[in-house]
This record gives sequence, C-alpha cells and structure tokens, in this order.
Amino acid sequence: MAANVNVAAICVGTRNLGPGWRSAVWVQGCPLRCPECLAPEWIPDRVANLVPAGDLAAELIADPAVDGLTFSGGEPMMQAAGLAEVAREVRRARDVSLICFTGFTLRRLKERPPSAGVADLLSEVDVLVDGPYLAVRNDGRGLRGSTNQQVRHLTDRLAEGFDFEHGPRTAEVRVGGDDEFVELMLVGVPPHGMAATVGEISRRIERENGR
Ligand code: SF4
Repeated sequence: MAANVNVAAICVGTRNLGPGWRSAVWVQGCPLRCPECLAPEWIPDRVANLVPAGDLAAELIADPAVDGLTFSGGEPMMQAAGLAEVAREVRRARDVSLICFTGFTLRRLKERPPSAGVADLLSEVDVLVDGPYLAVRNDGRGLRGSTNQQVRHLTDRLAEGFDFEHGPRTAEVRVGGDDEFVELMLVGVPPHGMAATVGEISRRIERENGR
C-alpha cells in the first residue's frame, strides 16, 4: 500500500536549501524538541496534510528545472518509509540529488532507528545533516543550524562544489495564503537575526488576521 507523508510545507524550486534548484518538503512532527528550534510550529505530532507519496513526488518535480530534493521538518526520520518512497518515485522520473536534515545522529539512526524505513531512506540520501540543533552553537554559517551538526556525504554526488559547513547562508521569505489570510514561509537556514525578524512579522500578521 502506498504510504502517506504528513506534510507541514512544500517549496517547489529554491536556491536556498543546497546546490542547484531544489524542491523541499518539511514534515510535521518531531519528538526531539530542541530548545529554540527554528520551526516550533512543526514539532507537534498532529495531522497536517496527509499526502500520498506518489502525489508528493509529482508535486516536487512539477518544475522541470528541479534537480534536487531537500527533506527537513519536523523530523524526516519519523516518516522515513514514506519519504523513501517519495525519493524513489522522483528518481524513477528524474535523476535528482537528495539532502536530508535530521535531529538524530547517524549513529543513533543505525543503532536504534526511530521508525520503520530509516535504512531505506538513508540508502537514498546523498548528504545527511545530522544531530540536534544547539542554539549556542549557531555560528550563522553553512547549510546547518549549528556546528555540532555533522555534514555526512553518504555518496560522493555533492561532495564537490558546495560548502555545506562554512558557506554563506541564504534564505528567502515566501508570501502565501489566500484573500483573507496572509502567511509567510521562511525557506533556507536563516542568517543570524532573520528568523526572529520573520517570526515577529508573522505574529503581527496573525494578530491582524485575528488568529
Ligand atoms: S530536530 Fe529540528 S525540528 Fe526537531 S526540535 Fe530539533 S530543530 Fe526542531
């Protein structure tokens, strides 16, 4: 039976989550609860949007220029089976690279996988950024939240040409919503100060939205 993925948000096509033109999926739910998590609204283990893996795969590559995927959250390894299926589906249609963030260490994932399908998902991942977010070790550099997180090249596909650890961070704010409610989404690992600023603006918008 095809798996569903509990999706918090999707972004089709960005230059802010790794090399190339990537699509990102953030899953809902994370058991780790790092203090000062940059995406606290995606921590609760609740149903957000249940999307069949095949539909999600098709949406992520709806833009023909997309050449990579980035999985984040929330905690992707809690939905490893569904995300592995998404990666396989996409790769049946297009040869993309895959970056995955996780708050678990690679060692923990191998010794005590937190969900079924972890080994399956790891076998699809080119670059794993692993470990919990530690705000005191956020140096404002690279495609990782804090310097304790390790960039693990599980294949050599993205081993050259992109500095995951020390490169400058870039992020964008996307404006979504509908006629009644405006929503902001931060795409990328934010440079220092950006997350707080966007969070404050979002809270103001929510107040004006009456939420
Ligand atoms: S692992 Fe990521 S999503 Fe989970 S609490 Fe930590 S920073 Fe937040």
